[in-house]
Amino acid sequence: MRKKIVAGNWKMNVDLNESIDLIESIKKIYDPSDDVEVCIAPSFPFLKESSKLCQGEKIKVLAQNVNDNLKGAFTGEVSIDMLKSINVDGVILGHSERREHFNEDDDLLLRKLKVSLENNIKVYFCIGESFVDREKNNHFEKVKNQLDKTVFKIDSIDPENLVIAYEPIWAIGTGLTASPEQAQEVHKYIRNLLRERYGKKISDKTSIIYGGSVKPNSARDIFEKEDVDGGLIGGASLSPQDFIDIVRSI
Ligand code: PEP
Repeated sequence: MRKKIVAGNWKMNVDLNESIDLIESIKKIYDPSDDVEVCIAPSFPFLKESSKLCQGEKIKVLAQNVNDNLKGAFTGEVSIDMLKSINVDGVILGHSERREHFNEDDDLLLRKLKVSLENNIKVYFCIGESFVDREKNNHFEKVKNQLDKTVFKIDSIDPENLVIAYEPIWAIGTGLTASPEQAQEVHKYIRNLLRERYGKKISDKTSIIYGGSVKPNSARDIFEKEDVDGGLIGGASLSPQDFIDIVRSI
């Protein structure tokens, strides 16, 4: 049985008080008996407070990034041990905004992925094609290429520690959601690639979540698809009610 996951990526949108308010509001309406892994990804300065507030609540706290070095002279950066020392549960890597605005290429992402997995921090690894790739019908090739250069360079993976997030760039923050059928065909394709690389047992157990303008009214149809195991939610995760409605759509 694969884990169902809904993760909210707050990006650079909320300050300390707003982060606390969001968490408190989520806690009020969230039923922790739901069989879903619920995660939030606040900004670095608020991770410690967030993880304290989420202790014992079945809400995991993720960082939006991490450095590929364990320690040293890297001004302005944050390491895995720093995250672990404040009980952060995982890290989002490969988000298209980091690839685009901070020039994170596949080589760097592979280093971040390796060091995170080696140091036992769970990774939510994002891949996805641009609008141009989709228009040219290159989306399968693009996704395969991203996996070949990153995840598939790792010899063995543990589904407890790695989640794949399929996020078509054209759908992120645009209001354009992939149709449930479009999401399913790419998720199935990714699962088949995982099977070819790691075998059926691993591919059956690896959660593949979808991201790209998921809203309460579109979540259910997408999550119903066989190979879609949940969602990575940007805009809608800033509204506690919308976020929990999405969690309940699983
Ligand atoms: C995201 O940034 O990962 C995302 C899916 O954003 P949105 O839901 O706003 O499209």
